[in-house]
Amino acid sequence: MAVLVCGGAGYIGSHVNKQLYKEGYKTIVFDNLIYGHREAVKWGRFVKGDLKNMQELEKAFEGNTIDAVFHFAAYAYVGESVQEPEKYYYNNIANTLNLLHVMRRHGCNKIIFSSTCATYGEPGKTPIMEDMPQNPINPYGFTKLAVEHILKDYHKAYGLEYVVLRYFNAAGADPDGEIGESHAPETHLIPLVLDAAAGKRPDIKIFGNDYPTRDGTCIRDYIHVMDLAQAHLLALRYLENGGKSDCFNLGNEKGTSVLEIVEAVKHVTDQDFPVILAPRRTGDPAVLVGGSEKARLILGWNPQFADIDVIARHAWCWHQAKTY
Ligand code: UDP
Repeated sequence: MAVLVCGGAGYIGSHVNKQLYKEGYKTIVFDNLIYGHREAVKWGRFVKGDLKNMQELEKAFEGNTIDAVFHFAAYAYVGESVQEPEKYYYNNIANTLNLLHVMRRHGCNKIIFSSTCATYGEPGKTPIMEDMPQNPINPYGFTKLAVEHILKDYHKAYGLEYVVLRYFNAAGADPDGEIGESHAPETHLIPLVLDAAAGKRPDIKIFGNDYPTRDGTCIRDYIHVMDLAQAHLLALRYLENGGKSDCFNLGNEKGTSVLEIVEAVKHVTDQDFPVILAPRRTGDPAVLVGGSEKARLILGWNPQFADIDVIARHAWCWHQAKTY
């Protein structure tokens, strides 16, 4: 069975590609390599191309019957989305329409879409459940929500079957050390703290310690990238078995504060480094923790790497030996 992994050279996409390959799927990775890494595509066929270019997209469909598409390809810098919404609306929404168009032309009617807890905005309650209101507070979150709506409409009109996976904070790396997280620029907390532990940054800045949380710093739900990958495989099997199109949160239902992450990294790496208090980052909700009962119950998802020390250890191993 052949599947297309759009954005499969990126952080989460590359881990899903590896798992799919290991499970015996024939994978075709389609990526423009703007943020992705060619070195991360060690499995399956690679087609370099951009979703804005339908001819390039056609090439990915040539020669194979693609049974399902995983769609990771999107810009994902929240701050940049506020500064340059046009870039986000074109790439994340309009270019997704191209993908859906080419899928329809080729009779491919299954998609697993990478969405985000950012579609919930500033939720009033925690943990966040799938049926809670979605009111994104930045263009990035809005683009993901817009695609969720598009998928619902295409389902009704054209019979497209979809699974939307709303990720909380992806973290960690392949325990085999073959692939991992590498962003340029890096804005995510764990890789930045690891940089500080490795002496590649002078310190780590804590964006605000006056939030209404147990230690005043923001709380997030960190989920191991391998557990995310497992959920994608289960989502594919779910659709293959005739499961109904639906949306699922992927989190650990467990909040970890910024200071707790810093402590976990100090513990795992056995390194000390300066921790500096900085102003709040605009648009950061105090707490984002996801309820993932639905994914456990319906997809049979059972995360294996929920321990924050394990997440930090895998990320540290990758960080020390990273090849891209
Ligand atoms: N954060 C921080 N210092 C940094 C980077 C991030 O204090 O250098 C905080 C950020 O404010 C948020 C949490 O760490 O509360 C996780 O941020 P990240 O960018 O990793 O993920 P997000 O939750 O924004 O998707």
